[in-house]
Amino acid sequence: MYERLLIRYGDLNLKGKNIKYFIDKANHLIREKLSGINVGFDFRHDRVYIMLNENDPLVVIERLNRVSGLYSYSLISKCAIDMDEIAHLALEMIVEKTRNLPTTFKVETKRADKNYPLTSQEISPIVAGKILSVAKNLTVDVHHPELTLNVEVRNDGAYLFMGQIKAMGGYPVGIGGKGMLMLSGGIDSPVAGYLAMKQGVEIECLHFESTPMTSIESVQKAIDLVEVLAKYAPHDKIKIHIVPFATLHSAIIANIPEPYIITIMRRMMYRIAEVIMRKNDCLCIINGESIGQVASQTLESMKCINLVTQALIIRPLAIFDKLTTMKIAQEIGTIEISNRPFEDCCTVYLPKNPVIRPSVELAEYYETLLDYKPKIDESVVNTKTLLLRTSKHFDITGMGISVGEGLSNENH
Ligand code: ATP
Ligand code: MG
Repeated sequence: MYERLLIRYGDLNLKGKNIKYFIDKANHLIREKLSGINVGFDFRHDRVYIMLNENDPLVVIERLNRVSGLYSYSLISKCAIDMDEIAHLALEMIVEKTRNLPTTFKVETKRADKNYPLTSQEISPIVAGKILSVAKNLTVDVHHPELTLNVEVRNDGAYLFMGQIKAMGGYPVGIGGKGMLMLSGGIDSPVAGYLAMKQGVEIECLHFESTPMTSIESVQKAIDLVEVLAKYAPHDKIKIHIVPFATLHSAIIANIPEPYIITIMRRMMYRIAEVIMRKNDCLCIINGESIGQVASQTLESMKCINLVTQALIIRPLAIFDKLTTMKIAQEIGTIEISNRPFEDCCTVYLPKNPVIRPSVELAEYYETLLDYKPKIDESVVNTKTLLLRTSKHFDITGMGISVGEGLSNENH
């Protein structure tokens, strides 16, 4: 019954050239995410029509749900601009939706083709009257209808739709530049990455691994998470930088008093993240920190940790509670991977009494016990980068990698 899908863009409160940039990016993503499906495209200045060509609309919508910057969809049936035909088709659509249960409705008409002799105000009551004359379960309620039937009179026919399906929202990914996501294997950071992409920021990921202190499976978790996130990325691809952290990690555990272990570890992570962020032309670091979640995420701790970097830090989950984050993780399909029970470097050897109000002076003093600068350089030099694609791996150095066979790919 439905022959095309109307797509409305998201926040178009942008001005001038930015609107064009927004729409170009969104259209590009729409084409890309629908590639491989035989649909047609009709790009208009404030909307897009997808010609479904007999494809299942749900399959098309599932793909489009990966495009940030889209506001909503409506499934459209088309017929000739003839009051009887419109009423007939409208009734079919209403019956399919209501299964003949008593329902209130109204007809709303928009006349894009101003040459058509009847006005919008004239068309709506005619169509409603014809529907009412055959459908005894329907009544008109113009103020609070359960169903609104939209009729758009265009020069190539009448387009009919009911209601709007919510799309991903936000801004087209990439429009906001690129950020470096600190990706652990936990629940929070993939959600932070998704929200950043949804807001238009393309991401690369950075994962600290401490093998052999932590298991290789925790690295695999990060890789699998990136593959899920890549669904929302341009070209379905995201880079992950895997940073060896064991040398610093063991030095911290051996030299730092227990309450400060996590504080110092996080300060080291930020120092490294800033270098990798800049090397890869990212504008910010993104992470999954949430105020009060653990000792290292009290405001006092975050302030002490943040002091080691000049980088802009974006924390999309700062004010979320865990349930809100988990709900999103469920929706985007990362939670099952995050829940796999492997320790990563923030959860292995957890101190019993971590400091929640760290002293900056003490943190700085403890760091003098570490000779950390060469260790940071070593971590950065030995970082390996993979370019991952949703369910496929791309070798970006031509060395032939398969994640199942190991992580080695590109040395920086
Ligand atoms: P998540 O917060 O993702 O559930 P987590 O709870 O294990 O994972 P936290 O201890 O809350 O991690 O760390 C806060 C943030 O620090 C994470 O959201 C992530 O952005 C970053 N982070 C922690 N561990 C790592 C790691 N091994 N590699 C990269 N980033 C990390
Ligand atoms: Mg967390």
